[in-house]
Amino acid sequence: MHPSISTLRSRVEKSQRLVFLGGAGVSTESGIPDFRSAQGLYSEESGLSISPEEILSRDFFFENTEAFYKFYREKMLYPKAEPNDAHRVLATWEGEGRLRALITQNIDGLHTKAGSRNVLELHGSLHRNICLSCGKHHGLDSILESQGIPRCVCGGIIKPDVVLYQEPLPTQVLAQAVAAVKAADMMIIAGTSLNVYPAAGLVEYFRGDNLVLINLTDTMNSRRKYLYVEGKVGQVLLSLARTAP
Ligand code: NAD
Repeated sequence: MHPSISTLRSRVEKSQRLVFLGGAGVSTESGIPDFRSAQGLYSEESGLSISPEEILSRDFFFENTEAFYKFYREKMLYPKAEPNDAHRVLATWEGEGRLRALITQNIDGLHTKAGSRNVLELHGSLHRNICLSCGKHHGLDSILESQGIPRCVCGGIIKPDVVLYQEPLPTQVLAQAVAAVKAADMMIIAGTSLNVYPAAGLVEYFRGDNLVLINLTDTMNSRRKYLYVEGKVGQVLLSLARTAP
């Protein structure tokens, strides 16, 4: 067993209050591209003269709603994606009472699909969509089955319940995430460039001494001591689960 994996394994086994913070890299093994990998969305030709960050902003949504939805449907929605080993292992850990909080920056809903019940979705979920006029909630089908700008039965524009650039994070979810990180004795961060705030700043609330990063590259810019495990998060978590007693 690779030394970093065996170290990680024994730390997970000893942990009483483990929290996990994941990003888009948790879902790449499910076939959903992340933003900042070599194969990520930001490296692709978007076919537009503006950046994905700009398209996925609040201003762009309201000023260019049709163009927003063209990009969103083409680049952000993967309705056939299935959970991978990372999602499954985390759901198992929750069931075992090993995982105190599962915090994600992802909007794809794959943790819930894998069976996790208590997921702190910092950036919302593409499965929830809300009419801006009457407040009616819609599922993902309303976006997938419509063309152009999706509209509610009342005629109002439907907006995904995801946090766009320029929008604040859901206050209660962020507060729960901060509380969980503060109370944790171990924090695993995985599949994230740690570029997007305030999610990336959650690590600063961690008071334990057991900080781990699982990623394809070392993205931690904290001065704190941490264990870096280089690899695919699904593979690494599965190897822990396989070797656990
Ligand atoms: P990011 O694209 O900025 O960074 C992803 C990181 O994960 C990179 O460092 C990459 O090297 C690493 N990575 C990729 N595949 C990996 C794997 N299999 N194992 C380990 N590491 C892997 O993603 P981010 O930090 O989450 O920030 C981007 C924002 O984009 C987030 O706010 C998120 O909401 C959104 N996003 C979500 C999805 C999704 O819901 N699946 C997909 C794309 C982007």
